[in-house]
Amino acid sequence: MEFRDLKTQYQTYQNEIDGAIQNVLKNADFIGGKEINVLEERLAEYVGVKHCITCANGTEAMTLVLMAWDIKAGDAVFVPDFTFFSTGEVVALAGATPIFVDVDENTFNLDPQKLEIAIKAVLQKGELQPKAVIPVDLFGLPANYPEITGIARKYNLLILEDSAQGFGGRINEQKAGSFGAAATTSFFPAKPLGCYGDGGAIFTDDDQWAAQLKSLKVHGKGRDKYDNVRIGLNSRLDTIQAAVLNVKLSFFIKAELDAVNYFYSLYNQKLNDIVKTPVIPNGYYSSFAQYTIRLKDLSEREKLKTSLGKNQIPAMIYYAKPMHHQKAFGNQYFDESDYLVANRLCETVLSLPMHPYLKEREIEQICNFVLKTLEK
Ligand SMILES: *Cc1c(COP(=O)(O)O)cnc(C)c1O
Repeated sequence: MEFRDLKTQYQTYQNEIDGAIQNVLKNADFIGGKEINVLEERLAEYVGVKHCITCANGTEAMTLVLMAWDIKAGDAVFVPDFTFFSTGEVVALAGATPIFVDVDENTFNLDPQKLEIAIKAVLQKGELQPKAVIPVDLFGLPANYPEITGIARKYNLLILEDSAQGFGGRINEQKAGSFGAAATTSFFPAKPLGCYGDGGAIFTDDDQWAAQLKSLKVHGKGRDKYDNVRIGLNSRLDTIQAAVLNVKLSFFIKAELDAVNYFYSLYNQKLNDIVKTPVIPNGYYSSFAQYTIRLKDLSEREKLKTSLGKNQIPAMIYYAKPMHHQKAFGNQYFDESDYLVANRLCETVLSLPMHPYLKEREIEQICNFVLKTLEK
């Protein structure tokens, strides 16, 4: 059994994917080929924003936005404490200070009330300027944008939506990738929409930022890449990846999103009574980058993980360490009482196999196994 089955996915669309890659090889336009523009237009239309700018990966997508926004030393950027390292890393890399904020126990996403408390604490201390917040659409579920947007407006913060795991999710009819002043996603192979290497994209409605981002991702180019008007990066998506993504995007929209949501409902039906299953609030739709359950405590989690492993059922812990425990942020002081939820989640979460190519009998097998292990 696979945790995320990329081999079956490839076999399912092999003809289309091979054909798309062959085309790029024949044309030998490996950088900036026409597939890039096609992809950017399709992604922008799907998400419902004016501009999509592809780039090298989801981490640099965020870095590029922070560069365009001139986030720098002395700025505070609010980041959930329970996320992949990258979300805080880009803030520190920009020279600014990441302020980690506790999350909601049920959705795993940034807790809006705690965001406001953290903003007030920074303002009271008076050392840093609150500039932006990076909510994360964790495990495929959009963050609580209705509330976060109100708070961001009140304190004049820019919202950068980290939708690396969230592509395909939505709140009512509004799609992930359209909630912030800018949003980013990742095409790392295991993400909801993945390519065959590294890749990423930025979404925004702002014409000026879009122009700046297109320059920043190619060495700060002006008229062309030998006319350099600002310091930038080399952060392009290559044409082969765009060709793969053009094929996968169609099937993602047509079949894969429905499939993972069907498997989510099967899992929940079978597991609801014995573990805490994922909570999808009313009106929200998840793209299920992960299906993550919560156990009673660390020892129950370890017991289940070990016995699943012994029976060749892959399960993963996302995340075992909250951001404020990462050694790389060891230069900052943190009060553990600010992170009670994230600390508890790190001890109790477990992600089960989730992807569009699961079989019903595999889910049955996994769930029976969970029931049997936890009953003992
Ligand atoms: C994967 C991920 C990223 C980084 O994406 P890369 O393409 O690997 O750089 C950023 N944030 C979150 C929440 C992620 O899961």
